[in-house]
Amino acid sequence: MNEAYSQLPSARCRRRTYCCSLLPEMSLLEALSAVQQLLEMKAEQRLWMNRRLIRYFFLNPVEILSCPFLESENCLIYRNRFFGCRAYGLWTEELYRKKGEQSRKAKTLSQHQWQRLGVSLPEEVVNFHLDYCPYVELEGGAFVEDELLLQTSDRIEAISGELVPWHEKFHQEYFSDLSFLLASMSLGLQRAVQLKFEIVRHILSTGNKEKVDRIVDKLDDPLANLTT
Ligand code: SF4
Repeated sequence: MNEAYSQLPSARCRRRTYCCSLLPEMSLLEALSAVQQLLEMKAEQRLWMNRRLIRYFFLNPVEILSCPFLESENCLIYRNRFFGCRAYGLWTEELYRKKGEQSRKAKTLSQHQWQRLGVSLPEEVVNFHLDYCPYVELEGGAFVEDELLLQTSDRIEAISGELVPWHEKFHQEYFSDLSFLLASMSLGLQRAVQLKFEIVRHILSTGNKEKVDRIVDKLDDPLANLTT
């Protein structure tokens, strides 16, 4: 994966973390790379980080939160940040718009699923869209073609695809969402989904988020068993 990333030119950005408004979608391989970095953290920081990710999982249908890895304008896993983070601002505007359309369709689908459960998500969340960023500059005035970005993305998907059957399972069952995976590791998949539904419905009817804070503050580190 690092070899694939090394094909991308270095870039400078003036906007400073505007693009970190969401936790990007990722392949299983990228999720595992982030988990590896979580495992390298001190126990206390990892617990704080995992709770933050799980809080994000519960709250992302009701509000736009920053990416949980963003802290004081710094990315805590910058070394292992996802392909989506690296490619933002490098796509041509045209391809970025097409990708935005795909993402809008996925969000509309998700909105319909929530509606079938009797929950109407806030319009500002469903319609949230990151504008195209014209402020990323490639070092040395280099230029990157969409083709190279697509090849890099395909290559990472292909390497991740070797993790059979987990790669596909991560896309299909966890919607390529590390926060969902960690919530499921902590609570069990069914319980995580059920709690999310209860929390979202509760917040939308009362505006009160104390319940989610109470639940998350009691969670143990779901990665503790993986540390040596
Ligand atoms: S992983 Fe890092 S670079 Fe990517 S969106 Fe989150 S904070 Fe930003």
